[in-house]
Amino acid sequence: MIEFKHVSKLYSNGVKGLDDVTLQIKQGEFVGIIGLSGAGKSTLLRSINRMHEITSGELIVNGSEVKSLKGIELRKFRRSIGMIFQSFHLVTRTTVIKNVLTANVPDMPFWRVLLGAFTKENKIAALEALDKVGILEKAYIRTEQLSGGQQQRVALARTLAQNPKIILADEPVAALDPVTAKQVMDDFKRINKEMNITILINIHHVELALNYANRIIGIRAGKILYDGPASEVDEDV
Ligand code: ADP
Ligand code: ADP
Repeated sequence: MIEFKHVSKLYSNGVKGLDDVTLQIKQGEFVGIIGLSGAGKSTLLRSINRMHEITSGELIVNGSEVKSLKGIELRKFRRSIGMIFQSFHLVTRTTVIKNVLTANVPDMPFWRVLLGAFTKENKIAALEALDKVGILEKAYIRTEQLSGGQQQRVALARTLAQNPKIILADEPVAALDPVTAKQVMDDFKRINKEMNITILINIHHVELALNYANRIIGIRAGKILYDGPASEVDEDV
């Protein structure tokens, strides 16, 4: 469960990224966050896993007050939340499986993963994650040889390998063509249904958001404008 209580985020240049946001998201929800560029969508997501600190209010995620987490608790907390970006953040000059393995051995420098410092269990978990997103056969291919959609699936597999309760996806399909974008959205939907992982997805493409999310949150200037079922959103808004 994710709970925002009167949360604001003020950047040092005076911009209000979030302005008095109150909302609750239950485990297993699939939420599409929509709004124009600069509305505050990324600011909302980055608050949840504490990529940045909120300025005021209270934010509770899976029973923890996010602000007060420290040390090992904070590391464990961050691992329970997966993050997916528009640009895939992969090391493209190595194999797909080694990218996924970095999620399994998070406290190890990447060069040690490259040298093979992982267990058989790590490897099985990585292969299982690749299977879940339908690219098991690409495991030993260099990542740079994959299409954009396939690379986003690698990023998704890497996130799944860390067993997250929540996945935050910041414009994950914005760089993909429409057909590939739908395929990646299908993956998110399947993961949400089969694994009961909460998914929050920032998406500027309103129609895609309405087709896939169960709940839509609309943001403007850091404020929640709309929060309700996707089926009740008036597409003209
Ligand atoms: P904070 O208030 O969270 O400490 P800062 O203002 O110090 O944030 O900026 C953090 C980073 O974001 C800096 O690298 C800065 O260049 C960048 N940044 C600054 N203004 C903007 C903006 N309007 N949009 C996006 N990034 C910005
Ligand atoms: P969105 O994801 O909806 O495009 P953001 O959350 O990135 O919106 O940005 C919300 C507002 O905060 C914008 O006005 C943006 O310029 C500003 N902003 C984002 N990051 C920073 C930063 N690090 N420093 C200062 N301003 C920022």
